[in-house]
Amino acid sequence: MSSSTKALAGKVALVTGGSRGIGAATARALAEAGAHVAISYAASAEKADGVVKEIEDGHGVRAAAYRADQADPAQVAELVARVAADFGRLDVLVNNAGVFAHGTVDEQDPDTAALDHQLAVNVGGVTAAIRAASTVLGEGGRIVTIGSNLAARPTSPGMADYAATKAAVVAYSKGAALDLAPRGITVNVIQSGSVDTDMNPQDGPTSDAQRAANAMGRYGRPEEIAAGVVFLASPSASFITGTTLNIDGGYLA
Ligand code: NDP
Repeated sequence: MSSSTKALAGKVALVTGGSRGIGAATARALAEAGAHVAISYAASAEKADGVVKEIEDGHGVRAAAYRADQADPAQVAELVARVAADFGRLDVLVNNAGVFAHGTVDEQDPDTAALDHQLAVNVGGVTAAIRAASTVLGEGGRIVTIGSNLAARPTSPGMADYAATKAAVVAYSKGAALDLAPRGITVNVIQSGSVDTDMNPQDGPTSDAQRAANAMGRYGRPEEIAAGVVFLASPSASFITGTTLNIDGGYLA
């Protein structure tokens, strides 16, 4: 397909946490669809640079990586402003960066620092990015947040805190969708099922149970989540807002 006929030709997308996993696959897929892509990361500078190089070499679009801690709202706001300034515009925000911390609510010695950090990254990082992006996105702008099927139904004990962070972004996105609809900006969540990444490797201690929990009996690939992001970011999805798209192999069927 020539670059001018690609769905996202000339658009600028920011993918938070684009150095690995679902975020890296999403950055590649958005570039494949013609978008210029900025990614952020917390620690993996080398991996982020690798994704940038791969995108620039493979797709002939512009790409850049930025270090920004999603737990710090000031860094998130600065990230969005810098991307918009460096690329001259922002059309698509993908809130992908996230962490996973678990433990039952009656645990004797809970790791409250990890749980607080999770809340800061998974919720605070998303709300800060949506607030900042809403000041620079124009007509046709797109916001997609990577949620989790666990928001609708936690699989096993110990998921309460993580699930709550992913439920929060659904409610926030529905509210933001109402706020931004008059400006032609859509806001949606993809509720991902089990996907093989560093966060949730498909050969981990609970992976057999996770496979058994969905209708297709397998893990998803990062590319299968990325495909949904590209669709929601595209002009074809212009009348879809305030909703969730489950990409979970039938976990929530
Ligand atoms: P990974 O752990 O593989 O990758 C996480 C990404 O987020 C990395 O790029 C990481 O950057 C970045 N990140 C983490 N913390 C921060 C931070 N404080 N500031 C900025 N960036 C940060 O995760 P996945 O790809 O599996 O997950 C991506 C999203 O999908 C998350 O929101 C997750 O909750 C969600 N999800 C994943 C599922 C799965 O089964 N894998 C299921 C359902 C939802 P760095 O490399 O620098 O650390």
